[in-house]
Amino acid sequence: MNTTHPDRSVFDQVMVPNYAPVQVIPVKGRGSRVWDQQDKEYVDLAGGIAVNALGHCHPELVAALKEQADQLWHLSNVYTNEPALRLAQQICDLTFAERVFFANSGGEANEAALKLARRHAWNKAGEAKHEILSTYGSFHGRTLFTVTAGGQEKYTEGFRPAPGGISHVPYNDIAALEAAFSDKVCGFIVEPVQGEGGVRPADKEYLEAARRLCDKHDALLIFDEVQTGVGRSGKLYSYMTYGVVPDVLTTAKSLGGGFPVAAMLTTAKIAESLAFGTHGSTYGGNPLACAVASKVLEIISQPAVLEGVNSRHEQIRQGLDAINARHNIFTEIRGQGLLIGAELTEAWHGKAKDFMAAAMEEGVMILVAGPNVLRLAPSLIIPDADIAEAMLRLERAVAKVVAA
Ligand code: PLP
Repeated sequence: MNTTHPDRSVFDQVMVPNYAPVQVIPVKGRGSRVWDQQDKEYVDLAGGIAVNALGHCHPELVAALKEQADQLWHLSNVYTNEPALRLAQQICDLTFAERVFFANSGGEANEAALKLARRHAWNKAGEAKHEILSTYGSFHGRTLFTVTAGGQEKYTEGFRPAPGGISHVPYNDIAALEAAFSDKVCGFIVEPVQGEGGVRPADKEYLEAARRLCDKHDALLIFDEVQTGVGRSGKLYSYMTYGVVPDVLTTAKSLGGGFPVAAMLTTAKIAESLAFGTHGSTYGGNPLACAVASKVLEIISQPAVLEGVNSRHEQIRQGLDAINARHNIFTEIRGQGLLIGAELTEAWHGKAKDFMAAAMEEGVMILVAGPNVLRLAPSLIIPDADIAEAMLRLERAVAKVVAA
């Protein structure tokens, strides 16, 4: 093996085959451009799956990371640290949160949220009040608890027995939610926009009904904003767009701009249920991660950055509409801010990955959300010129697939 520049074949020799990465290996990124080992350049509309909210190697994030790297890397939660305290304070100032728990990934933040719902209900009403409601099509992480809460059968296959007390209802269906609710429910977890499930925004009335039902049955309303959070929706958090305030919110992905960090937000009263010793994480609140996230939040919470998300949404939507006018491959283009889904027409069902592969060949990185939806989740500050170039390349990719 060439240890300086290992090639893709090494993956198959030494890595567990749970991923199937593309053949090229990216080695450098700046802003919304990425270069591979052969120095071929790509425009990045994938953003590391909605993570690189400020593009690659944003100078202020690099500086924050370097500064903290020279100061203090890790302590554990036997001690607190300045970056974690600063970040928690920022989050409380900018959102409904009064208390914050730090984790390292979206799945871990959701694990904490679900455990909090159980523990909170147990404190107040005892063990019978333990049921968790979730929605079909949702995605909440890959731990056994979160994958079971997720509404996609394929991810739990072969991993049973699964944790019990979790049931699913159709997304955006108020009547089904009402029918499923009872006083045994301790929490309802929902994505304001289902990301992995096809970039499907919730109806405002649906989230309002969820709020009402949670209040009526004394259950926690948990918004999974792992994908929608930190500006991606065009507001700092998507709940702000809907005007529906959850009891618990999970945030990850964009929060670290590429550095692993996550948080669970809640109120002071509810947080009391996670008393000393009930939950924890060695790395959660790590100084390096919190120093970077603090800078990310500082930048993204600026009104100009959030407004930019909405104008970029329009530019991309127009680009996709133009591609569609020529090739007629999308039935719908939807999403919020810079989380955009383009649903393929029936003729192209099951072929989303073909478009993704062709796009890569043409020099633009995109995502899929299931077999029928192309998904874009670029940097929130992607330059206009990069969007324009990406649309040209995407059109070439689409033309190739359509002609094949
Ligand atoms: N929740 C949502 C809505 C997600 O989109 C994801 C990841 O795609 C997760 C949770 C899991 O996050 P992680 O992969 O960081 O554990």
